Amino acid sequence: MINVTKTYLPPFDEYAKILKRAWDKAWITNNGELVIELEQKLKEYLSVEHLLFCSNGTVALQMALKALNITKEVITTPFSYVATTNSILWENCNPVFVDIRHDDYCIDADKIEASVTENTQGILATHVYGFPCNVDKIGELADKYNLKVIYDGAHAFGCNYKGRSLLSFGDISTCSFHATKIFHTVEGGAVISNSKELLNKLYLYRSFGHLGDDYYSIGINGKNSELHAAMGLCILPKLSGIIGNRKHLFETYNHLLDFRKMSRPFSKEDFTYNYSYYPVLFETEEVLIKVRSALANENINTRRYFYPSLNTLPFLNYQDCEISESISKRVLSLPLYESLTRMEVEKICNIILNELRSFQIIQ
Ligand SMILES: *Cc1c(COP(=O)(O)O)cnc(C)c1O
Repeated sequence: MINVTKTYLPPFDEYAKILKRAWDKAWITNNGELVIELEQKLKEYLSVEHLLFCSNGTVALQMALKALNITKEVITTPFSYVATTNSILWENCNPVFVDIRHDDYCIDADKIEASVTENTQGILATHVYGFPCNVDKIGELADKYNLKVIYDGAHAFGCNYKGRSLLSFGDISTCSFHATKIFHTVEGGAVISNSKELLNKLYLYRSFGHLGDDYYSIGINGKNSELHAAMGLCILPKLSGIIGNRKHLFETYNHLLDFRKMSRPFSKEDFTYNYSYYPVLFETEEVLIKVRSALANENINTRRYFYPSLNTLPFLNYQDCEISESISKRVLSLPLYESLTRMEVEKICNIILNELRSFQIIQ
C-alpha cells in the first residue's frame, strides 16, 4: 500500500535518548528544557525573531486572531484546510472569501481591495502547498486600510521568499507540526511574529493568561509537551536530507507526467521550496474520479486536497468563488514522502498516463 503521505519517524533510540532528558528531570510539560531548546533551534533554523511552540496549528490560528483583537470581518481564502475558516468562525468573526489565482492557488491579492468594508479588520491567507501568497501586495493593502495580517503557514516550513523565511511575514504567521506535515512533532504548531509585544501577549494566552501567581489576561491551554518537543529536536537536524529526497521525487513526477492533459500549481516567485506536496489538476472532476479509482485499485492512496472549497461549507452562507470551486473539484494530491521510491513514482505515473489515454479513447 502506498499512502498519500507517510509520517517520518526517526530511529527509536535517537528519540529515546532525547526523551531521557525529560525523564531524568521528571519534567514532561509546562515549558520544560526540551520545549525551550526546540523553540531556540526553530528560531535559528527559520531565522525568525519570535516563535512559540503550541499544541497545534489550529490553536495557533485562534490565538493569533485573538491577539490581534480581530472581532468582525476577516478576508480569507476559500482554498485551504478547513481549520483556516473554522478558526475565524470559532473566534466569532465573519469570513469574507476572496477567490484564488490560477497559477499558485493562493488568494488573489488583486481581488482583495474590492472586498474591504468598514468592518474588515484582517486578512488570513494560506501559503498553499508552501507557495508564497503575494505578501508584498497584501502588505500594501494592510497599510492602506489598517488591517492585520495573519498567514496560515502550515505548509510553509522551510520555504524562503526574498531571502527570508516565508513564516516571517505578516503580523503573525502560524505553522502546523502535525504528523502529516513536512516537519512534525506528532501534534504541534507555532505562532511566529516580529513583534515582541505580540509575543508577550501570545505567551500569556498560551498558558491560561497567568505567570506563576499573577493573572494578567484571558488565556487558553495552547502549550505543548516535552515528549512532542523531543520529536521535533530529533527530526530537525534531518530536515535538509528529508527535503532533498522529496525534491528528487518531485522532479521525477515532473519529468514523467505529461502536462498536455493535466497541469499542476506553480509559483512565479523566485523562492526556495520545501517540496511538501505534489498536487495535479485534471481537466474535469470526472477524470479525477477515474484516475483516483485506478490508483486505489493498485492500493495507492491519494487525497482530494483541498476539497471542498471552503466557501461552500454547508454551515456557511454561500459566497461565490468560481476559481476555487472549480480547482478544488479537479485537484488531487499524489503520494509524496521521504521514503517513497523512484520506482513507486514511476508506477503511479504510468497508471495516471494509462488512465488519461483510455479516457480520451472512451470520449
Ligand atoms: C494542517 C493544517 C492546519 C491545522 O493544523 P493542526 O496542527 O492540524 O491543527 C491549518 N491550516 C492548514 C493549511 C493545514 O494544512
